[in-house]
This record gives sequence, C-alpha cells and structure tokens, in this order.
Amino acid sequence: MTHVITDLCIRDGACVEVCPVECIIPGQPEKEWPWYYIDPDTCIDCGACIPECPVEAIFPEADVPKEYGKSEAFNADFFKSGPGYEALNM
Ligand code: SF4
Ligand code: SF4
Repeated sequence: MTHVITDLCIRDGACVEVCPVECIIPGQPEKEWPWYYIDPDTCIDCGACIPECPVEAIFPEADVPKEYGKSEAFNADFFKSGPGYEALNM
C-alpha cells in the first residue's frame, strides 16, 4: 500500500514537513508534473500527511475516489519513469 496525492494538490508543501521518511517530492519540471508526489515504495502508510493537507488531496491508496483514479498511476510514474527524487535538484 501507499498514500496517493491527487490532482487536487495546490503545491503548498505542507505535507512534506511531516513525512517521517521524506518520500513526498514536488514535481519538476512543474509544467509536466504540476503537483507533489509520494514515492509508493518508500511510503510507510503512517497517514501523518493527510491532516496537514488544506485541500484534502491525499488518500490511502485503497480510498482514492474514482474520479482521481489516474492520480495513482501518475504518482507511481513520477518515480518509475519521471524525475523522482532528482526533481529536488532541478
Ligand atoms: S503516509 Fe506517512 S510515509 Fe506516506 S507519504 Fe504520508 S507522511 Fe509520508
Ligand atoms: S499538503 Fe496537500 S496541497 Fe499541499 S503539497 Fe501536500 S498534497 Fe499538495
């Protein structure tokens, strides 16, 4: 399991501060990756990020609303084929 950031994200970065395993990364380049992303292989499902999000954009994988289903693949792709942690150096 993992947690997933949906496209409701407004990029304010509030969730990053509380993640104990530092697996939430701001998407870069912003035009291609306009939100923040959670590394599904590193997330420990602690749930600490959820109450920090002002727009309720973060869900446990199993609870992602259907209309945001694509966000799950988008999150995973960011680490599989996208810049992933390299985005921190962009
Ligand atoms: S659930 Fe916990 S480990 Fe996973 S992204 Fe949120 S704060 Fe980080
Ligand atoms: S707290 Fe919510 S809106 Fe802010 S960066 Fe994280 S997911 Fe996006």
